[in-house]
Amino acid sequence: MSPKHDAPKHDAEVIIVGAGMAGATLALALASGGIDCLLIDPQPFDAQLAPTFDGRASAVAFSAFRQWRVLGAGDRLEPHAQRIEQILVTDGRPAGASAKSPSGVWLRFDSSEIADRTDGEPLGYLIENRHIRAGLAETVQAAGIVVLAPAKVARTTSEGGAARVTLEDGRVLTAPLVIGVDGRASRVRSDMGIGTMGWGYGHVGVVATVALERDHGGVAYEHFLPTGPFAILPLTGRRASLVWTEGLDKGAALKAARPEVFEAHLRRRFGPFLGGVTLAGPRFTYPLGLQLAERITAPRVALLGDAAHAVHPIAGQGLNMGLKDVAALAQVLADAARLGEDIGSEAVLARYARWRSVDNLGVALATDVFTRLFSNDNPLTRTVRDAGMAVVNRIGPARRLFMTEAGGAAGDLPRLLRGEPV
Ligand SMILES: Cc1cc2nc3c(=O)[nH]c(=O)nc-3n(C[C@H](O)[C@H](O)[C@H](O)COP(=O)(O)OP(=O)(O)OC[C@H]3O[C@@H](n4cnc5c(N)ncnc54)[C@H](O)[C@@H]3O)c2cc1C
Repeated sequence: MSPKHDAPKHDAEVIIVGAGMAGATLALALASGGIDCLLIDPQPFDAQLAPTFDGRASAVAFSAFRQWRVLGAGDRLEPHAQRIEQILVTDGRPAGASAKSPSGVWLRFDSSEIADRTDGEPLGYLIENRHIRAGLAETVQAAGIVVLAPAKVARTTSEGGAARVTLEDGRVLTAPLVIGVDGRASRVRSDMGIGTMGWGYGHVGVVATVALERDHGGVAYEHFLPTGPFAILPLTGRRASLVWTEGLDKGAALKAARPEVFEAHLRRRFGPFLGGVTLAGPRFTYPLGLQLAERITAPRVALLGDAAHAVHPIAGQGLNMGLKDVAALAQVLADAARLGEDIGSEAVLARYARWRSVDNLGVALATDVFTRLFSNDNPLTRTVRDAGMAVVNRIGPARRLFMTEAGGAAGDLPRLLRGEPV
């Protein structure tokens, strides 16, 4: 008799706590590998398209988008996905020049330079989070995955051969494995006694969607201004998503400013290159910091996405790290299930931890260094970074390496990120 028949009766093989972008993708990935899972989230699963839901857009690596295509979400996401053909990075102004001077230093990445390695994929895709969540929610429902929402997990414990979650309404559910994908303030993580390390940057990201007078041509702009990075990210239909890094007080003031005052500030920052700019939705602010879980597994529990690692958005890596976790964990669990192993066992979870911990630590530390280097108006630091940008811009292989890394096509790629079934 297979171990499955001997196993005690559970509510699912895997309980996923958190149906955000990482949690919903994980549910699709596990279901595609034949693993029976159940998703829980306190937010209603079908109320995510309102513009007030989440004002952010995410730059998604082309390999992560491939995963969504394999999992059946491609058709729902593609109409909302803007191809990023070029990334143009400029330093706000050359060292020693006045604050009003235009930048003299720039770095350009172009998707055509890596077309031989990517089958003509762009550098990535820009999609509004509310469309990602809605597209994933529809795909999850179409796949027949059980979703408990709105329902909040109040406590997670693990004993013997099972993990147990208690919902706020008193219901108790058990499974051989619980995966905490419940974000930066993860309850699953704290219930497992897993601490975090990290720090805040004393900045917020002010996020807004704007309508542009001129076509953006699929170019993402990142300007490093004296107060921090200012990104203009292309969206479908002559719109852009702005991520404007500011100190806490200035960020709050920008969020509260009258629309015409905000737009006047924007025009000063933006310059005239995309014509007139007008607000096309509500503004949001997000505190920025680095947070890493001390471990990403505990007995019968794994952490994934922002619950495991949350980074500054300067390089657009946070969600991409979570989507890489999904591909790796789904592959580890599906392979273990095929071999008849207990998918919640320490040995199986250790494979996931080995695969993802080093990569996540590396990306988090690199993002931290990048943030400190580029959120800084010290003339010496700026001279060094401008010299670095000028050198990278002249060396084709360095640019191509950076683009392949950022596109998530480098390293030990799980099958889903290569566009293959789990
Ligand atoms: C300004 C900004 C811009 C960004 N831009 C990019 C970008 O361009 N590219 C990129 O890759 N990343 C970007 N990121 C990072 C990215 O947004 C996050 O990494 C991503 O949203 C994390 O997804 P998640 O599913 O892990 O967590 P979350 O999105 O936080 O989802 C967690 C889910 O868990 C649920 N939950 C919480 N508590 C419970 C509970 N007790 N029980 C059940 N469910 C619970 C929540 O309701 C939620 O749905 C950006 C971040 C910021 C702040």
